[in-house]
Amino acid sequence: MTRLGNVFVISAPSGGGKTTLAGQILNAMPDVERSVSMTTRPPREGERDGRDYFFVSEKAFEAVRKKKGFLEHARVFGQSYGTPNAFVDTQRRRGKDILLLIDVQGARQVQKNLKDAIRVFVMPPSMEELRRRLENRSTDAPEEIQRRLKIAKREMREAGQFDYVVVNLDLAKAVDELRAIIIAERLKVTTSRRHREAAAGGRGDLQEYRSSVRLLRRRGGASPQ
Ligand code: 5GP
Repeated sequence: MTRLGNVFVISAPSGGGKTTLAGQILNAMPDVERSVSMTTRPPREGERDGRDYFFVSEKAFEAVRKKKGFLEHARVFGQSYGTPNAFVDTQRRRGKDILLLIDVQGARQVQKNLKDAIRVFVMPPSMEELRRRLENRSTDAPEEIQRRLKIAKREMREAGQFDYVVVNLDLAKAVDELRAIIIAERLKVTTSRRHREAAAGGRGDLQEYRSSVRLLRRRGGASPQ
């Protein structure tokens, strides 16, 4: 049976390092995919359409929104961003865990629309460090950096609403922690049971499933997926 993949919402203030962190996870974990968002923001240097984002016009974005094609969408820094439903659905049915790298507003919507999503807040070590990272990235004008720092402060206050917080001081440690979260969520008995029930179309196989979990526990192994 293919397990239904988990959906992880990874939120961080702009410059918080979530893209680098997610990149390392994607390299290390073959069963994890990153959702590619749609945005009306123009591409930055080095960004590629279809890999970093789907870069679309306001009109095209609006057409998808009207057809209810987004799991969540938000206006961020004056541009529209949205997570296409189709990709998330298809990949999780293939057993892939999906990372959504989205802002705090989007995380709130996902919590409403997808109850079983797991939300991880990536916390920058300090405001000074965040400013330094935004400045070093040198992709945004000074006023834009100021704006992003102001919004970051507001977002960091919401960290307590998330399921997990990873402090991104040392990248290798943050990668280890995020990987541990992804693995632990796969091993949760409630997750496996829900996935099995979804696959069986109800509670029919539950008895057999419980026995297999007990058996695995006695052997000291992980729960079945
Ligand atoms: P950037 O323009 O720097 O790539 O992204 C700006 C912000 O928009 C980041 O916080 C990023 O996580 C967020 N973002 C990117 N894609 C999405 C999305 O699909 N939905 C939401 N809500 N936020 C997004």
